[in-house]
Amino acid sequence: MSKENKNITREAIIGLGEESFKKNYYSELQTKLHDLEIINSQKQALIETIPDILLISDGNGRISPFSGQIASNMKNTMTIMRNNIIMDDLKSVIAEVIRKKRLMAYYFFVPIDRKLHYFEVRAQISKFSEVLIMIRDMTEPILLEKQLWDMTRKDDLTQLYNRRYFEKHLADLNEQDISDLTIILIDIDGLKMVNDTLGHLIGDQIIIATAGMISSAFKSLGLISRVGGDEFGVILIDQKPPDIEAALSRMIEASLNYLTDEGEALRISLSYGYSYHASGYVNTDFIYQEADNNMYQNKLLKDSSNRSNLVKTLMKTLEAKDFITEGHASRMQELATAMGQKLKLPLHTIDLIQLLTKFHDIGKVGIPDSILKKTGPLTDDEWKVMKTHCDIGRRIADESVELKDIAHLILKHQEKWDGSGYPLGLAGTEIPIECRILTIVDSFDAMTNDRPYRKAMSIEAALAEVRLCSGTQFDPDLVEIFLSIDHAHPHEGN
Ligand code: GH3
Ligand code: MG
Repeated sequence: MSKENKNITREAIIGLGEESFKKNYYSELQTKLHDLEIINSQKQALIETIPDILLISDGNGRISPFSGQIASNMKNTMTIMRNNIIMDDLKSVIAEVIRKKRLMAYYFFVPIDRKLHYFEVRAQISKFSEVLIMIRDMTEPILLEKQLWDMTRKDDLTQLYNRRYFEKHLADLNEQDISDLTIILIDIDGLKMVNDTLGHLIGDQIIIATAGMISSAFKSLGLISRVGGDEFGVILIDQKPPDIEAALSRMIEASLNYLTDEGEALRISLSYGYSYHASGYVNTDFIYQEADNNMYQNKLLKDSSNRSNLVKTLMKTLEAKDFITEGHASRMQELATAMGQKLKLPLHTIDLIQLLTKFHDIGKVGIPDSILKKTGPLTDDEWKVMKTHCDIGRRIADESVELKDIAHLILKHQEKWDGSGYPLGLAGTEIPIECRILTIVDSFDAMTNDRPYRKAMSIEAALAEVRLCSGTQFDPDLVEIFLSIDHAHPHEGN
């Protein structure tokens, strides 16, 4: 190849007559020109397929668009070429490339159409001292990478760091010589009960709200993570205990004043514990464990009072939903007590009946208003939902120190003497006596008071109705006792 090249140098050609040239070299030159055209068209096709911005700087440092590049790049090309700061930087890089005679790469940002674009620049010198510049828009791949990166370290629900990231961060700190390192752990109290009663959506709302309260209490002081379902972890560096306590107080204050998305006040109860490492080499496992122990201690200390707080909140919700009125509960309590006394029931049983009259419907907090407040008849599916209130009520009561003893009674308060009730379909004396008494009293009270959809019956009419249901809905022996009570008396003052 190099030998042939030598044969067609200018000098070789000039010395020849036209005839001799045509005869000896013309066809060869034609072939070479054709080859060159092929190379050129390949180069052009290549340039057209390159999505990057291509610029060229001549030997005098003049920068211009590389001819033939695709038109869709023109807008970005012009934006970049009109930006003096970018062009000045580029010129100094070009000078460097010429000086060092090697490829150089760097990055810059520029807003285009109000969106920040991220560009990668590569500049290389050619044999003829031109510098070719490729500028690649890396915005999309970088955003994608960031999204993927976020997915691996963030929690979807709260957008806080996930447990994996938290643990990695702790592992990085382990056995380091660090001062003022604190780990705080925070757990929502009674979230299971909130889920069971008010529903998972409210549960999720509470988790998100708690994440917000922790974030604003600690601002940007530390790394905040959702380390478990309803548990959060904070890693703080350079904070002293008084600052930590102050931030925790801010968090607790916010949790006590929480309003749901629907604007209802719902105290979120949070348990927390922290462990502070003053200085020296740190064992992160140890301080995590200590923070965890402190958190559990905090939870245990206020356990019963907080649980009853939650029950109070639930009762308030019930009252707001018109299911409990003080008058209603006390009327029923009087009737139930009168029956209990006539039956000579132990005092403890009468106490349970009293509690039951007040709390038997607590599970209705978990039933949607669309079903609770429906004036027309319920569909089969709506009934299925409605019937769950017994079990929801049982679960709430089970969580509360005060109501634990009546949990099983709440479950069975809709059973009927003939076995046609729910949820278990118990019959006769399988149904606890507390429930058998409550059903009579509750039905009678409902009949003798106004409802949105009907007027109150007279006492006589209601007593006749109770008698009518003796042996089907009600225990016949208890109906006799009930009918023998002086019904004028319990209604006094209502
Ligand atoms: P404690 O007062 O002892 O903390 O009891 P708890 O009911 O809060 O239950 P615990 O902390 O032992 O367990 C966490 C509960 O949080 C279990 C589950 O019902 C609930 N939970 C976990 N993850 C989620 C979630 O993503 N959404 C909702 N709504 N609830 C969750
Ligand atoms: Mg919890």
